[in-house]
Amino acid sequence: MPATIYYEDDASLSTLMGYPIAVVGYGSQGHAHALNLRDSGCEVIVGLHEGSASRARARADGLRVESVADAARAARVVMILVPDHVQKRVYEESVAPHLEPGKTLMFAHGFNIHFGQIDPPAGVDVSMIAPKAPGDRLRELFEEGVGVPALIAIHQDASGAARETALAYAKGIGCLRAAVLETTFKEETETDLFGEQAVLCGGVSALIQAGFETLVEAGYQPESAYFECLHEMKLIVDLIYEGGLSYMRYVVSDTAEYGDYTAGPQIINSSVREAMKGLLGRIQDGSFAREWMAENEAGRERFLAMRQAAQTSQIETVGQELRNMMPWLRKGKGAAVPAATPAQVGD
Ligand code: NAD
Ligand code: MG
Repeated sequence: MPATIYYEDDASLSTLMGYPIAVVGYGSQGHAHALNLRDSGCEVIVGLHEGSASRARARADGLRVESVADAARAARVVMILVPDHVQKRVYEESVAPHLEPGKTLMFAHGFNIHFGQIDPPAGVDVSMIAPKAPGDRLRELFEEGVGVPALIAIHQDASGAARETALAYAKGIGCLRAAVLETTFKEETETDLFGEQAVLCGGVSALIQAGFETLVEAGYQPESAYFECLHEMKLIVDLIYEGGLSYMRYVVSDTAEYGDYTAGPQIINSSVREAMKGLLGRIQDGSFAREWMAENEAGRERFLAMRQAAQTSQIETVGQELRNMMPWLRKGKGAAVPAATPAQVGD
């Protein structure tokens, strides 16, 4: 069955007019959603708890800020954009009491609905618009007049208009200018977790680190190892992003291309593929979700220790020095990683 894809003409912003939209959370996604919706002519209330450091930022950006409960009470559409591991608590304390029938509850990732952490009442629409980019990019491209693609999924269609509302929301944040692909909460959640663990974050980081350490252990300079295994990654990924694997292989030398075909499958071999299947199984059967929720409930000690160890590893200290010599790499945002403290998460 071909994928269902929606574009600009498949939604009307008028669907969202006449009542406020609550954007709960003002982090990476929250700020981009709130500002894009506002600039699309929607009425936006940012919902944040009293002590939130994001309050000042949202107000400085010209937005109306209320408590999460007040925002949820006033709005007909409530988008939850606090971190996934705190959504259950924020939802139960401040959102659920205000979800009268006819309202719409939205998410940008399916984790809490799919794994049963949040169980909304029967009378509300429950949908997802998951932009396939970090919030800064979502905002940046919107301002340039284009958009980032997104996924849409409907978990519950009480009104019969859940898709219409979700698509209007996607239009408001600019995603329909690119494309919005129909999926399910299950597919989005499982593929997102698998992608970030096996390939994008876990896989790439471990591959870079293993390559770096192999060269250093063989006696090569860490600086050379850093350039070959980490720094050049961006050049390759940019080519893949632009024109697929074949375009990257067309641009690199024939020597590099030959080595790619022969060595790639030796490194990412059948045992790695078996491990990937095991990982996917643990995502699908909920084991990973239970483990991550338990880690959060236990105070994140193990998580923070891993963060600390990773931040002080050799590739990171060598990289820090080399990047200091390449100040043009730093575009401000995301350049400096804050020290590993529990306070880094949430505010
Ligand atoms: P974030 O960590 O950047 O921001 C969360 C915001 O929530 C904070 O800025 C703050 O305003 C608030 N917050 C933080 N801790 C809180 C707490 N303990 N209690 C109440 N409020 C708190 O989060 P994010 O990355 O924007 O993620 C939001 C949602 O968007 C998640 O469901 C995530 O999976 C999804 N998502 C994120 C990305 C991404 O690239 N970051 C992309 C697509 C979808
Ligand atoms: Mg993702």
